[in-house]
Amino acid sequence: MTLNRFKTIVLAGAASVALLSACGPNPNDNSDTAAQDTVQPIKLETPPAGQLPDTVVPTAYALNLVTDPAADGFTGTAEIQIRLEAPHARIWLHSLDQTIVRAYARLEDGIELDGEFEGNLADGGVSKIDFADPVPAGNSTLVIEYRAPYNFGLAGLYKATQKDRPYLATQMEPIDARRMFPGFDEPRFKTPWTLTVTAPQGNQVIANAPLTGSSQLDNGSVRYSFAPTRPIQSYLVALAVGPYDMREGAALPANTLRATSVPFRGFAPAGKGDDLKVSMDTTDDFVTYQESYFNYPYPYAKLDIIAVPDFAYGAMENAGAIIYRESALLISDRTSLGRRRAILGTHAHELAHQWFGNLVTPAWWNDIWLNEAFATWMSNKTMNSVFADQGYDRASQRGGIGAMSADSLANARQIRNPIERNADINDAFDGITYQKGGHVLSMFESYLGEDAFREGIRLHMKRFEDDAATVDDFMKSVADGSGDTKVVESFKSFIFQPGIPYLQVETECEAPDAGLIRVTQHRYAPLGSEIDADGSTWKVPFAMRIASPAGNTVHREMLTARTTEIPMDGACADWVMPNAAGGYWRFSLSEDNWAALTDNFGSLDVKEQLAFVDSISAAFRAGDAPAGALLDALEASATAEWDVAMASLNRAEGLFNVLPEDQQASMRGWAQATYGPVHEALVARKDTLNQGETLLMQDLYATLLEIGDMQAEREAFAEQAAKLVGVNSDPDPSAVDPALFGTAIKYGARLGGRDFYDAALEYARTTSDQRERRTVLSVLAANTNEAEMADLIKEVQGSDWQGQEAWSVLQSSLNNEANRETAWGLYKASFDNVMPRTPEIRKPQTAGAVGSFCTTEEIAEAKAFFESKKSLIPGYERSLAQAEERGNLCAAFRGSKTEELTTALAERE
Ligand SMILES: [Zn+2]
Repeated sequence: MTLNRFKTIVLAGAASVALLSACGPNPNDNSDTAAQDTVQPIKLETPPAGQLPDTVVPTAYALNLVTDPAADGFTGTAEIQIRLEAPHARIWLHSLDQTIVRAYARLEDGIELDGEFEGNLADGGVSKIDFADPVPAGNSTLVIEYRAPYNFGLAGLYKATQKDRPYLATQMEPIDARRMFPGFDEPRFKTPWTLTVTAPQGNQVIANAPLTGSSQLDNGSVRYSFAPTRPIQSYLVALAVGPYDMREGAALPANTLRATSVPFRGFAPAGKGDDLKVSMDTTDDFVTYQESYFNYPYPYAKLDIIAVPDFAYGAMENAGAIIYRESALLISDRTSLGRRRAILGTHAHELAHQWFGNLVTPAWWNDIWLNEAFATWMSNKTMNSVFADQGYDRASQRGGIGAMSADSLANARQIRNPIERNADINDAFDGITYQKGGHVLSMFESYLGEDAFREGIRLHMKRFEDDAATVDDFMKSVADGSGDTKVVESFKSFIFQPGIPYLQVETECEAPDAGLIRVTQHRYAPLGSEIDADGSTWKVPFAMRIASPAGNTVHREMLTARTTEIPMDGACADWVMPNAAGGYWRFSLSEDNWAALTDNFGSLDVKEQLAFVDSISAAFRAGDAPAGALLDALEASATAEWDVAMASLNRAEGLFNVLPEDQQASMRGWAQATYGPVHEALVARKDTLNQGETLLMQDLYATLLEIGDMQAEREAFAEQAAKLVGVNSDPDPSAVDPALFGTAIKYGARLGGRDFYDAALEYARTTSDQRERRTVLSVLAANTNEAEMADLIKEVQGSDWQGQEAWSVLQSSLNNEANRETAWGLYKASFDNVMPRTPEIRKPQTAGAVGSFCTTEEIAEAKAFFESKKSLIPGYERSLAQAEERGNLCAAFRGSKTEELTTALAERE
């Protein structure tokens, strides 16, 4: 699964769920004594918490569904072949939101045993079927006839409407398959699935497996039969029904690993099929690379990629039928370079899951990182292979550095996190799992060597094909494949505990030929943090560049102790770079050593430069580097390779944002002097830029408008924005570079007044580009004037707008710096009205709004508000705790560093 831009994905726990009706004859509930032989039938009395019992194993499913996108719901029959270890008088399973018409067991000799179904007995739709006559040990078939509504919260089999046309699509992961069919909804149960789906003529019907036949029914519907799938878990089952545009792609050709070609098609909402082309054209290159990496052919009988009108996440890797948020797959000539890169990266991620996650599956949700960290890392490798020299070789490192902000919190999750309740499952789909996980994998790949690591992965695929595996299984595969057993303990120290190793590096020089380097590890903690810095140690696969009169060398050592001393033979260090491997750690140095590293910035490679910019910024926030040293380092990195310069700019923007508003002016001149010339130089050779330079040029412009001295440009840009949305004219999308679309709306909203607001809202209402529509709404909310902001918040609560859009306007209004107080008042007043239409997965994230405040009074007041609304946002606890901590860290930083920073800036004027 790929996240969308909302980082923390949390799902409601026991939201309003209709109590299910119990059916089937059961005059005497005496099943405790109903054993027909000497074996006592199994009848677990209390609903299982977490996993279902091991004694009932599903071995195959047949689903027969009758659908109509125009209706409110569907009917289904689930036939589940099961194997029982012993006779069972009661079978526990999952079923949510369904009305069960009949449930019975069909034995191998054809005898039918009626069961009594009772649903919703525990969180997550834990349900039971009781049998007066126990189901005997061995093989039998559970048959459940039911009806269910389409979900309107983008979960299970849900309905979404675009341009008045209804569509059906599925999103099952993690635990919403149980909304579409009753069953054993856990990843360890992998079985073949055979679907039969009826739908009115005129609809496309797409499932995981190839179509085997269709028949016209008397009522105008068509019944489609699909082949059985290869064994997959319930959360990979997919179905899409609706008036989708279809594009037949060239089959993925046979190759040395695969004797047959793979049929390949793309689907998009009606009218948008042409925008599938770029993603479709890239697919064969991606699959070819991944097949060769895994040394294992694409596992499924066909491949469909499907853009759906509305989707809660970025995309979902359903076996053979990948479903995407429309804006995460479709590419038009209005799609910016940055978006194109992100879309193709998502596509590579979902394809990687066909092996990591689908072919080999985590046994339980605590190991979901085995899916997501791997797909993240493999996506970067795939992109680097297909699009060489575009900076993807350090994409996993950049992602991991991005996740360090969340990993700096006392409330950080660990990569492999215990799952104690359903809400924990959804918490597991976050930046720690994806980005930190991907970075940690790239670190161990680099430590073991690419070839040795790949051997471990290939072994793992072969060992666990069509099966489930745990963290220990994976570690054993890596150790066996690479021939290195030591790596396991180090790996585990990064996976089983939260936080960032923070290496304090001191250099000593007793005599010119007797240097010493001392490395002490703590857990990174920013100023104001409650983290116990001495509470953790890691086994760090350390690599440090040392420059001395004897030469420039890289020292490698597995750091296992709190403090490690590294004696130098015959020299003292001139300077050290304590992260020469792009590894997942931060470091701090003495003031002299920071200065020496800045002086030698140009002799570092790009990964080292990225690590340096991150470490010195983090050290400043921890009180371990002076503001002057930080500004020196940001200046040195401003002219470096594009992603290093972007990191530098990003840290500068972070400092600007955390300064109190009346102090921000002190930074504008410095920002303009540091980054303005870089921007001008790129503009001067605009037609010869590579991808990275283009991204940097766009980023510099957008950021300098905000933090630099560019008042004239802001006004000029607002005029272009007015042409874009059509103030007193027809909208002209060509008026603004698509990469700067959101930036244009921002300055239009700030400077353009009511006329701009009206035109922009109309633009959002009529554009067929969903991403533009949502960008307009959220950027307006964060930037427009007080009266327009109030109108907007009211407007999006109307039926013209999706529930997801109303939610995002409300959240974005809190970023409206100029009107924050008004926004917060409107937020609170609108909350009860907006929540019922908010998708389930967004509700708990709502409490994250606390993190947009930076004074202790505001934070406390916001926290109290969300606690008073807890019944509307179940599962909100982690989101609230992290947001409160972010707010408090912001306040602590302001309190302790504002003066030092503004003084250092003043010294440079
Ligand atoms: Zn994923």
